[in-house]
Amino acid sequence: MTTRGNRSEGDVVVIGGGVVGGAIALGLARSGARIIILDEGDVAFRASRGNFALVWVQSKGFGMPEYALWSRRSADDWHGLAAILREEGGIDVAHSQPGGFMLCLSEAELDKRVEMMRRLHNSQPLTDFPYEVLDHAETKQRLPAIGKDVVGALYSPLDGHVNSLKLFRALRETCQRRGVDYRPESPVESIVPRDGEFSISGSWGEVRAGKVVLCAGLGNSRLAPMVGLDAPVKPSKGQIIVTEKTEPFLHNPMVTLRQTDEGGVMIGDSHEDRGFDTVVGRPIISTMADRAIRMFPRLAGLNVVRTWSALRVMSPDGFPIYGQSESHPGAFLVTCHSGVTLAASHALTLAPAILAGELPAAVARFTARRFHVPAHA
Ligand SMILES: Cc1cc2nc3c(=O)[nH]c(=O)nc-3n(C[C@H](O)[C@H](O)[C@H](O)COP(=O)(O)OP(=O)(O)OC[C@H]3O[C@@H](n4cnc5c(N)ncnc54)[C@H](O)[C@@H]3O)c2cc1C
Repeated sequence: MTTRGNRSEGDVVVIGGGVVGGAIALGLARSGARIIILDEGDVAFRASRGNFALVWVQSKGFGMPEYALWSRRSADDWHGLAAILREEGGIDVAHSQPGGFMLCLSEAELDKRVEMMRRLHNSQPLTDFPYEVLDHAETKQRLPAIGKDVVGALYSPLDGHVNSLKLFRALRETCQRRGVDYRPESPVESIVPRDGEFSISGSWGEVRAGKVVLCAGLGNSRLAPMVGLDAPVKPSKGQIIVTEKTEPFLHNPMVTLRQTDEGGVMIGDSHEDRGFDTVVGRPIISTMADRAIRMFPRLAGLNVVRTWSALRVMSPDGFPIYGQSESHPGAFLVTCHSGVTLAASHALTLAPAILAGELPAAVARFTARRFHVPAHA
């Protein structure tokens, strides 16, 4: 999709090659469009390389029921996405949906979580979101390796997980086989409407297309105003510990702990507002490790092989921001902090709608207009 004179050769430019851009590009390409991905490259902050890989539904949507429905839809559609990645891209991303647990280490913690779930389910039309509250004995029956400090758990059969690095690679590979033109080292500096198209440029050159989709993660906050959109996203740091590989003992994912298909145990889910700082800090890591060992004492015997931190792409209320520009028709925005969970909705529902020129009704509440409510005097 290079430019010849003033005419573009392609249909859509996707800016950003993380999990969100990859899923959108794949969905667009499967709908028959010619796609180019412009990506800043490996030097960029990339949540897609450092995430926890949950396909999570339980507890999502507090304050916005549409988010619970949207996450549920994606979790349902993930089976189809995994099949596409396997059949078209040749990569098994180890997707499974065995149900997920939220383990609690005190009665107060369990009470708080149960109350939150009760309010979530009472306040919304979430009729088909099964979950159970389990005491210690019931939890131990299903997860024999738990420690005595686990007082109970919430369980939902809707939760699952994948191998996130395999997902990243599979999206890239499947896109490539579908003819998507992926261009790394192509940071976009400017998007300008010109002759009924968008001129998208940087120090690497220029491309033109009739449609542009902003999927640049934290980079969206700078790019969105160029096409009359708003993406008030900020970094939220998360730290992760990975242990050496061990024999399979944990079939189900948890919000803070999961065993990967390769055998290592991932421990995570810290949240810190520290700007673009990605330093791994001992106090947080120690607290995470301590809680994990109380949950599963056998972890104390495993070596830690890696720790890292990565930056979530966080909107002010934590929900996704999807937008289509009124001032610049053909420009769309897709950004969220649960890009793994939502990958199936992005590829299979959002991308075809973008190609058709209209975001679906299911995401009408997710525009940035919700942040523009005037403050009361
Ligand atoms: C610690 C942690 C744990 C997480 N756990 C989960 C989880 O369990 N489940 C889940 O669903 N989600 C999880 N997430 C969130 C998930 O990883 C993100 O939602 C997802 O990776 C966001 O993908 P993205 O493509 O929007 O952003 P990124 O992965 O940040 O990618 C953005 C891309 O845009 C490119 N870019 C930026 N600016 C420009 C520009 N100007 N021009 C061109 N390219 C540009 C960058 O090069 C980059 O490749 C977690 C995140 C973190 C940090």
